Amino acid sequence: MKFFMPTEVLIGKNIVKENSERFKAFGKKALIVTGKSSSKKNGSLDNIIEVLTFNKIDYIIFDEVEENPSVETVCIASELGKKENVDFIIGVGGGSPIDASKAISIMIKNRELTKDTIFTEEKLDGIPLIAVPTTCGTGTETTQYSILTDNKEKIKRNLGQEVFPKLSLLDPLYTMNMPLETTRNTAMDALSHIIEGYLNTNSTIITDGIVKIALEEFSKAIDGLIKGNLSFEDRESLAIASNLAGIIIAHTGTSLPHGLGYALTYNKGVPHGLANGCLYIEYLKVFKNREKVDNIYKLLGFRNENELEDFLRIIGKAEVNVIEGELKSYTKEFLKNKSKLKNHPEDITEEEIYLIYKNSLL
Ligand code: NAP
Ligand code: FE
Repeated sequence: MKFFMPTEVLIGKNIVKENSERFKAFGKKALIVTGKSSSKKNGSLDNIIEVLTFNKIDYIIFDEVEENPSVETVCIASELGKKENVDFIIGVGGGSPIDASKAISIMIKNRELTKDTIFTEEKLDGIPLIAVPTTCGTGTETTQYSILTDNKEKIKRNLGQEVFPKLSLLDPLYTMNMPLETTRNTAMDALSHIIEGYLNTNSTIITDGIVKIALEEFSKAIDGLIKGNLSFEDRESLAIASNLAGIIIAHTGTSLPHGLGYALTYNKGVPHGLANGCLYIEYLKVFKNREKVDNIYKLLGFRNENELEDFLRIIGKAEVNVIEGELKSYTKEFLKNKSKLKNHPEDITEEEIYLIYKNSLL
């Protein structure tokens, strides 16, 4: 059994400004990598600029990262970072800019990599990364994964390198004005990490212990998620739960819903958390070890499985315009994804996988 978590995580109100001096150790010039607009509105980018200016650290901003970041975007940002000789990266925003930052860190350090060789199997190091997440879903601030859109293979896939941020700074205040839809989608992502980490071939007593705490923490926000009105405490619970969820999947990986959801995101534009979430009721139904499924609803504070399903119907509700033939072809593609399949600890047939899609979406 192995437990490895090299990222230092600091959580709290005003955490960036309170840890201003920590930025000095990272170098003299930073590349800030962020999305198109949210970090300019929620205060995170202003806080980072203030801290860098105070510490006389030079910076350039790349604010073109799209949702589900593409290899092409990563390459453009990497060229900028190389040209400007940056010492480190600050990834600020949701999972998309932080995942992009991880790949950019690898490409800046390994200058010979191109968009055609980025998914190399060689194990590489990157330049240091500070993560400032502004969604409570992916847990990317405590994972080694960088999920990129590979337009050549027409799917989303993991870069395959291990890029843990050196430091992650989580301030739930950045998430206070997040629209309800994004809040629910990203919360669903966090919940799916916890559950897929629990119903997983690679789970250990350590990850199971973290699962228990993460589900209990998540449960504190359930009322707010249902009513559509989340307090600071709710947002803080989601930040902690999604961070713990990152630690869990850093060890176990994700399994069926994530593997099946990627096709819905790539082909139908369904946001990542929702793409997993809309398959969840059917995924839990096919899981044969009912004792483990029972533990999940109990730890979330529900009285029975029906209550959990009612909740999933609210936060995992998606309208996806898809036909039977498409679902059959997504199923076939998924079966090639051996890494996700081997994380599922039970035997499962092609028909059962297809039925998860079909019963969820048709
Ligand atoms: P995201 O794609 O980063 O962002 C979704 C939307 O939310 C964007 O429009 C973004 O705006 C906005 N947004 C971000 N923070 C906000 C805030 N505080 N208030 C209001 N709006 C905000 O969403 P995400 O769900 O966090 O990340 C999804 C990506 O992470 C996917 O590519 C997924 O595959 C990946 N992922 C990675 C891991 C991992 O371990 N590495 C795990 C799960 C998922 P802007 O674009 O303007 O910033
Ligand atoms: Fe995810």
